[in-house]
Amino acid sequence: MPRTTPLMIYIVPGKCDFCGCCVGVCPEDAIELLESEIKIIDERCTNCRKCVWACPWEVLEFHKEGIGQLPKEVSLPQALPPSF
Ligand code: SF4
Ligand code: SF4
Repeated sequence: MPRTTPLMIYIVPGKCDFCGCCVGVCPEDAIELLESEIKIIDERCTNCRKCVWACPWEVLEFHKEGIGQLPKEVSLPQALPPSF
């Protein structure tokens, strides 16, 4: 069933170590783990939070107001300083 709420899972830029724990627990197969990037497939995610609880590095955050409501300086990766 399609989700009627906004996407509530935010990926904190630059923190993921690509361990794959979140991918393993997602019941909707909504997390795409690439070589140097992680993505949530918006249409599939149900905001169940299992990935948030599974991540050992607190990369994934739950925001009940929806990630579209986050301040732009937080939600835009390019606003962060380069990691290296
Ligand atoms: S909130 Fe649930 S459905 Fe969405 S990506 Fe995380 S584990 Fe998958
Ligand atoms: S569990 Fe956390 S650190 Fe591991 S791949 Fe997922 S988001 Fe990245």
